[in-house]
Amino acid sequence: MSDAVNETQSNAAMGLKAVQRKIAEAAIESGRKVEDITLVAVSKTFDADAIRPILDLGQRIFGENRVQEAKMKWPGLRQDYSDIELHLIGPLQSNKAAEAIALFDVIESIDREKIAAALAQEMTRQQRNVRCYVQVNTGLEPQKAGIAPQDAVDFVKRCQTVHGLNVEGFMCIPPVDENPGPHFALLEKLGQEADLEKLSMGMSGDFETAIAFGATHVRVGSAIFGHRDYPVA
Ligand SMILES: *Cc1c(COP(=O)(O)O)cnc(C)c1O
Repeated sequence: MSDAVNETQSNAAMGLKAVQRKIAEAAIESGRKVEDITLVAVSKTFDADAIRPILDLGQRIFGENRVQEAKMKWPGLRQDYSDIELHLIGPLQSNKAAEAIALFDVIESIDREKIAAALAQEMTRQQRNVRCYVQVNTGLEPQKAGIAPQDAVDFVKRCQTVHGLNVEGFMCIPPVDENPGPHFALLEKLGQEADLEKLSMGMSGDFETAIAFGATHVRVGSAIFGHRDYPVA
């Protein structure tokens, strides 16, 4: 193992500890219980060797945004570590539904009827119950995935009643150039209206704000693993 790899690993371990500490501090500051906030460590673009030190520290919940990439590293890691919970946080094509259901424990990016139907069909076929989140495009950004806020509550109902999906919560990615607070507040309000308990919101730059607005899951990548060498949408 090269020194460069070693250094990335110990940095990631320090990054994880720092993020855990900040989550605890943000919870206390918001009068919330730290155990009500789950860290999803976003490992996209980092290989299995970069992920192992984080697993060795006990982190078990990870996020990936591409099915193909997750397929390269997680089946091997699952052989070495038990109780891994893998979240798909990136956009999904319905032709990848079978692979996604086989690989992931939670799918956070459901945003249209076609994908809801494809996932439901695969869960039945594979006899796997994968938990679901509906992604909301809180900023109505044309280039971003997610259902429009005004359609979100009805869409959840259809996912539950028409497709029988186990919808646990909402997920959002606020516009990069805006104050995220109002977006987190909107997601929280939609969660109340749809009677969903979980809110996946907050990334490296804004997870403490998200916790103040009620995030139950924060998805943190670069603050743990460091800068990503290539951009991933
Ligand atoms: C990459 C990604 C994250 C993590 O982003 P960081 O800024 O590196 O913490 C969170 N959520 C989604 C959907 C992502 O694609």
